[in-house]
Amino acid sequence: MSILIEDVLLDGDRKNIRVEGNRITSLDSDEGADTVIHGNGKAAIPGFVNTHTHAAMSLFRGYADDMPLQDWLSNKIWPLERHLKPEHIYWGTKLACLEMIKSGTTCFNDMYFFMEETAKAAEEMGIRAVLSEGFTDLLDPDAGKERFQSSISLVQSIRSMRNDMIVPALGPHAMYTVSPESLQMISEYAEKEDLLVHFHLSETEDEVNACIEEHGKRPVEFLEEIGFLNPRLVAAHSIWLNKEEIGLLSKHDVKVSHNPVSNMKLAVGKAIPYREMKEAGLLVSLGTDGCASNNTLDMFETVKFAALYQKAFTGDPTILPAQEAVALATENGARALGIDAGRISPGKLADIVLVDLRAPQLHPGHNLVSDLAYAANGSCVDTVICDGKILMQNRKIEGEDEILERANEAALDLVGNE
Ligand SMILES: [Zn+2]
Repeated sequence: MSILIEDVLLDGDRKNIRVEGNRITSLDSDEGADTVIHGNGKAAIPGFVNTHTHAAMSLFRGYADDMPLQDWLSNKIWPLERHLKPEHIYWGTKLACLEMIKSGTTCFNDMYFFMEETAKAAEEMGIRAVLSEGFTDLLDPDAGKERFQSSISLVQSIRSMRNDMIVPALGPHAMYTVSPESLQMISEYAEKEDLLVHFHLSETEDEVNACIEEHGKRPVEFLEEIGFLNPRLVAAHSIWLNKEEIGLLSKHDVKVSHNPVSNMKLAVGKAIPYREMKEAGLLVSLGTDGCASNNTLDMFETVKFAALYQKAFTGDPTILPAQEAVALATENGARALGIDAGRISPGKLADIVLVDLRAPQLHPGHNLVSDLAYAANGSCVDTVICDGKILMQNRKIEGEDEILERANEAALDLVGNE
């Protein structure tokens, strides 16, 4: 299967992008192809990589807002999560994938429950996914050993799908829900099996204080001591860090997933120390977090919030400029997850988004990169190609109506059981 995207705007020039199988093979092809897409009036950008999601939480969208984080988790989110069933996860993820594709995301890094359902939904939608079970042992290592079996069986069941686009990972939830012994066990297993580890790190100041009280050390220092820091760790949030901790994350090449919308909505009190992270050479990418705390999966919005949050928080309008903000959501996300995409160039995986330049937000068009970071949103996306397959063209995705209907039913069922 070959695709030719003719006469499309790419980095300021008109190109003919050729895709053979699942890779980009040329940017100036003049041969025919099985499928020809007219790129006139469109711009090609790499698909977004969302490095922190809980996709099925799309069913929680608008269910509980404007509450303090602990109150929100303890009294709204966790009670509802206790009623989750596999079919909720399946339809919630289908809805999430629909929204992601429609807003130009081609890969997501997800941690949640009943992840076999997430894997099935992502595979059907044709989107790339790195999937881990949200693991907690409530600080009891014995319970941890037992519960870890289901994380292992998820890894095995995803591997048995034999689909390179669905990648298994491990998902220890956070320091306050997982014992140090289990963190070590997970880290060792990840190394042995070559898996990414998806984790929530220092999202709130309370979390840091609790760690200091318990272990006499800040979280990152403690995690280093127990051997948990390494290049396969994707640490979501990573907000309340001091200079030494940033140095340690950098030394171990830990990947940071920044979730600006969620952080602002839950008022975690601080923005990530982006400048310090950048100076230390840390790889920062972007995530939306789940729909309960965002409430969309639109990465255009997350790019804009990331840039504005830094500017507002530091008082420096030059920090995190447009080009860099877009790169966090594309190239850096792909690097964080070890996926050979994130750029449109020959040899890379064909994860390509075509933006419709007729969108009013993109006019008059002085600077496309600026427009992408600050003016565009998901509705500007016209076509999405992932792994060399067209997932959406002219904003149409097959089965869309059924997904909306069934996801609504699943959400009603879930809330009805509350
Ligand atoms: Zn999260």
